[in-house]
Amino acid sequence: MTANLLDFDLEGLAAFCEGLGEKRFRATQLFRWIHQRGAHQFDEMSDLAKSLREKLKTTARVEGLTIISQQESKDGTIKWLFDVGNGDAVEAVFIPEDDRGTLCVSSQAGCAVGCRFCSTGHQGFSRNLTSGEIVAQLWFAEHFLRKHLKRDERIISNVVMMGMGEPLQNYSALVPALRVMLDDHGYGLSRRRVTVSTSGVVPMMDRLGQDCPVALAVSLHAPNDELRDNLVPLNRKYPLAELLDACRRYLEHAPRDFITFEYCMLDGVNDQPEHARQLVDLVRGHGQVNGGVSCKINLIPFNPFPQSGLTRSPHKQVVAFAKILSDAGIVTTVRKTRGDDIDAACGQLAGDVKDRTRVDERIARQRTVMLKSVPFSAPVAKEN
Ligand code: SAH
Ligand code: SF4
Repeated sequence: MTANLLDFDLEGLAAFCEGLGEKRFRATQLFRWIHQRGAHQFDEMSDLAKSLREKLKTTARVEGLTIISQQESKDGTIKWLFDVGNGDAVEAVFIPEDDRGTLCVSSQAGCAVGCRFCSTGHQGFSRNLTSGEIVAQLWFAEHFLRKHLKRDERIISNVVMMGMGEPLQNYSALVPALRVMLDDHGYGLSRRRVTVSTSGVVPMMDRLGQDCPVALAVSLHAPNDELRDNLVPLNRKYPLAELLDACRRYLEHAPRDFITFEYCMLDGVNDQPEHARQLVDLVRGHGQVNGGVSCKINLIPFNPFPQSGLTRSPHKQVVAFAKILSDAGIVTTVRKTRGDDIDAACGQLAGDVKDRTRVDERIARQRTVMLKSVPFSAPVAKEN
């Protein structure tokens, strides 16, 4: 079996090239061809020595994911469903905005955490994605969009690990993938523009801070342990006090000086004024946890899916909740729902996990991958 070069960060590729008796700078050239130019055939890589290209042909490959479908929302959001084999499929979503282009990337086929309000959680868990499968989502989306929009410069300026799966339960594949995203010879994204979102895997938050600090979002969803135990089962293992301690430790390494807390607004469950007041105490460090955490709070209107039995908080309730937080001096935003007409909004990514029948149905239905021109004005990738 040949090595899939999408699995390697630059260090890994250098080691692979050394194994072939090649110098390190060859790895850099190869890496740039793959990630910056989107090349997948060694013969395209014209400045690589012919002898190296021949060696690569027998030892390596650049293998992306097979696309099952591409759907485009009326707001310009694009969702891809990728086949990852054995009846599993995962999704990635491109969200264009005026000043940025964000790709939401999956880390697992399914998720083992099983949050009540999450469609991925309801699907169960099949397997971890490899580094190459995580990177392939970005590799494909970036080069597809460039070709499509006839642009040479970067289109995707931000990556959020907010697709299917719990990234910190797939740590060993996640970190090399993040390094490819950050590498100047790869996608050159700034650490502040790559966000890992976690339901709170405390030991791995510490490791991420050491190994590869990027922006961190923590899915809080409840201001006390009793409620959070119920909504995010991982809380029983890592309760709020430990989670907030881990956030504080992470901030010592983080590229941003705040943690983003995500809070999904569920009607009558976690959206009452009392919950907002508890949340203020929690992040300010009064209630059960001492110290406080420098944070922003992102309220996400719940995106319903059939089996959840939950409903979205009314807009008025969200506004009232946000007001209590901002009156207490906490920066609070309400996430704009994007792509909900194609089930691409937060928590709606279900892909297909160990469910061959549905994949087959979809393949049949959507055999023609939509390759018509993408009707949005492409965002300009800006660093901040
Ligand atoms: N497993 C990670 C990342 C993927 S989920 C995590 O939980 O953080 C990305 C975000 O979408 C999380 O904040 C998650 O709580 C939120 N989410 C999940 N289901 C949702 C739904 N139905 N509506 C709105 N947001 C949801
Ligand atoms: Fe997994 Fe995140 Fe969904 Fe919870 S919200 S089930 S951790 S993907």
